[in-house]
Amino acid sequence: MTSAPLPLSVWARNISPSPTLAVDAKAKAMQAAGADVCSFAAGEPDFDTPDHIKEACITALRGGKTKYGPTPGIEVLRQAIVNRYAAEYGLKATIAQVIVSPGGKFNCFLGILATCSPGDEVIIPAPYWVSYPEMVKLSGATPRFVLCDDRTGFKLTPAQLSAALTPKTRLLVLNSPSNPTGAVYTRAELSALVDIAVRHNLYILSDEMYEHLIYDGATPTCLATLSPEAEARVITVAGFSKTYAMTGWRIGTTLAPLPVAKAIAELQSQMSSNVTTFAQYGALAALQEKEKTSAALATMLTAFDRRRRNLHAELNRIPGIHCLLAQGAFYLFPNISSFGLKDVDFCNRLLDSEQVAAVPGSAFGAEGYLRLSYATSDATIAKGVARLAKFCASLKK
Ligand SMILES: *Cc1c(COP(=O)(O)O)cnc(C)c1O
Repeated sequence: MTSAPLPLSVWARNISPSPTLAVDAKAKAMQAAGADVCSFAAGEPDFDTPDHIKEACITALRGGKTKYGPTPGIEVLRQAIVNRYAAEYGLKATIAQVIVSPGGKFNCFLGILATCSPGDEVIIPAPYWVSYPEMVKLSGATPRFVLCDDRTGFKLTPAQLSAALTPKTRLLVLNSPSNPTGAVYTRAELSALVDIAVRHNLYILSDEMYEHLIYDGATPTCLATLSPEAEARVITVAGFSKTYAMTGWRIGTTLAPLPVAKAIAELQSQMSSNVTTFAQYGALAALQEKEKTSAALATMLTAFDRRRRNLHAELNRIPGIHCLLAQGAFYLFPNISSFGLKDVDFCNRLLDSEQVAAVPGSAFGAEGYLRLSYATSDATIAKGVARLAKFCASLKK
């Protein structure tokens, strides 16, 4: 007897797989098959975790830090996180407001789950990080996208935010420095957006994952420090993955108003419990051994900045491409709309004919662009951009 296939849930049927991971996977498969691929698809630093962080983790593992810990994170780490917000931004918080979660991605998801219900609307400026819409859908809420193109530097304007508000709007998602565009909002720009969010009593999820990867003397803004009203509604997500080349460690942080932090800790207690206990001691070393950590970060920043300026200059030399000089993260987001091709087709043909991997802007809700990651070697960037130029010239014929 054959039975009808059992249906999957509405959550399983509505989820879309990560398009950035898909391009990266195809490029890696081509590489494994012997192709000489230049990949601009990476979403993580090409550096290894600094040694002192690894050593602290190994020592903790050897020392038996192998049991369950407190769900929101070991107290010494949460205190170190409170201390660093105080030192870097003058933000006064308590450890009860801090939750350490298994990766910044999960911190974002729990922040959304703690504040959004079915029927609520969440404003997501596009281009957006690919996981926000899916997380909002999994909470039962509805994402509302606002397209912010290169004419506003990929930044949401107060007028755009006001126009997108409805009585159902519950949460605004902001991400500065941005993945995928590298855009960095100024403090004044963020203040204007926060004022509107305060007037409409919205929560704000501020994804500050790239706060330390910032160039040209720009400074990161910790949104919660803008005003007491901001502090009472901003859920700040940050972490270790991008700043300290620790993507595989799976450690992210949330700083939230106390009632939200308590809700997030309770959700986490039923969904994942604490982050791997000995890994948290590595993160602690990243915050405590400041001189070694700063030196490692400075080395990465010097390399990222050099590649950023080189890639930007080379891109703008290619007829038909227009690219802003982003001030943060490790991405540039050139406009390729002049070629008259869908960005997905552009990327597929680029990968097939020139073995260059790039993620189409439409994966981030913005058709007509590419996301190029410069978290790769100078040699790969030089070779890849030369091939891109050749490909673009062939399209113009
Ligand atoms: C990488 C990234 C995260 C999540 O990082 P984890 O690897 O989960 O710690 C969150 N937000 C943005 C915008 C990112 O690029």
